[in-house]
Amino acid sequence: AVEEEDAEEAALAQMLAAYRGVWVFVEQTEGEPAKVSWELMGVGAQLARDIGTELCAIVIGHGVEHLCREAFSYGATKAYLMDQDVFRFYRTEPYLDACCHLIDKYKPEIILMGATGMGRDLAGAVATRVKTGLTADCTGLDVDDKRNLRQTRPAFGGNIMATIMCDKFRPQMATVRPHVMPMPERMEGATGAIVREQITLNEADILTKVIEIIRDTKVGVDIAGAEFIVSGGRGLMGPENFAMLQELADELGGVVGASRSAVDAGWMPHDRQVGQTGKTVRPKIYIACGISGAIQHLVGMQDSDVVIAINRDKEAPIFQVATYGIVGDLFKIVPAITSQLREL
Ligand code: FAD
Repeated sequence: AVEEEDAEEAALAQMLAAYRGVWVFVEQTEGEPAKVSWELMGVGAQLARDIGTELCAIVIGHGVEHLCREAFSYGATKAYLMDQDVFRFYRTEPYLDACCHLIDKYKPEIILMGATGMGRDLAGAVATRVKTGLTADCTGLDVDDKRNLRQTRPAFGGNIMATIMCDKFRPQMATVRPHVMPMPERMEGATGAIVREQITLNEADILTKVIEIIRDTKVGVDIAGAEFIVSGGRGLMGPENFAMLQELADELGGVVGASRSAVDAGWMPHDRQVGQTGKTVRPKIYIACGISGAIQHLVGMQDSDVVIAINRDKEAPIFQVATYGIVGDLFKIVPAITSQLREL
């Protein structure tokens, strides 16, 4: 039995050793990259340094070679390029085939994708096909001394942070939401190697067809990219009071966000929700008004540069992550700040 165990361990060690490299999937739509891909390059470069391997980009699309060069400027030293007409629009099946072709041939140790609609879809499909684990929506990534990826994410409704490892399978796969990882510095003119790969795909075998693309013409508010956010929670008491937050946001050149309670109550649209089931934000200033600071809200905003909390309950957990805390009635404090700013 001991011999059998030793043989199993040796086989596992041999399998693990066959996989090398940290890969980042460069998400793009019509050649336009998703910013989260570059954010992942930052954390990917750190992981690659820690385990002494190379950082590579996976670029799949049509007319997307420029994204390889862009990936080099964010730290990749190699890019696997699959540039074919069949990849013009994202569809699960061809992208899945492309990724699995690359994985089979080059055996990456770690694959990171953005937790976007595309990344979530593709990562799940790839992990299923190559029979490995996938940790979705990670908020922290690092490696242990055995090259295992420690993938940290909120669990049980955000009540605990779980660290998940996939120590007996390769590649190790994780998705990370946009704005969770800091954007790395761009190194103008950095170069790397482009590895071109092709696969034969028969259009008739692909079940999904793109018939028409209807662009979203609604001018939405991008809270995820905003530098100043004034957010309101249940303490606002009703939708009409969000106008007061809008006035403050206008003075700052920012936008209005909301807690889930405010969104569930129908006071604000869902695209303004900050938190675990909303958006992750990293503004320069986040002003939380009448928000208690439940963990599910905090995971979406705690990496803001400055957090200002206004709450009449001095025990509210939001004060634990606040840079500045104001204990008092928001209906007095918010208009006072707005009028002070107007006088500047
Ligand atoms: P409350 O917790 O009710 O807090 C209201 C606060 O307003 C209180 O602290 C009160 O003291 C203060 N207040 C009241 N009146 C005034 C006043 N006049 N002046 C000053 N302060 C005042 N929540 C999110 O926000 N985002 C998410 O993405 C999210 N995802 C979730 C996912 C799951 C799986 C679960 C289970 C929950 C999730 N939640 C999320 C809900 C979260 O647990 C909390 O219920 C929610 O964040 C509370 O919203 P709130 O702070 O606005 O309301």
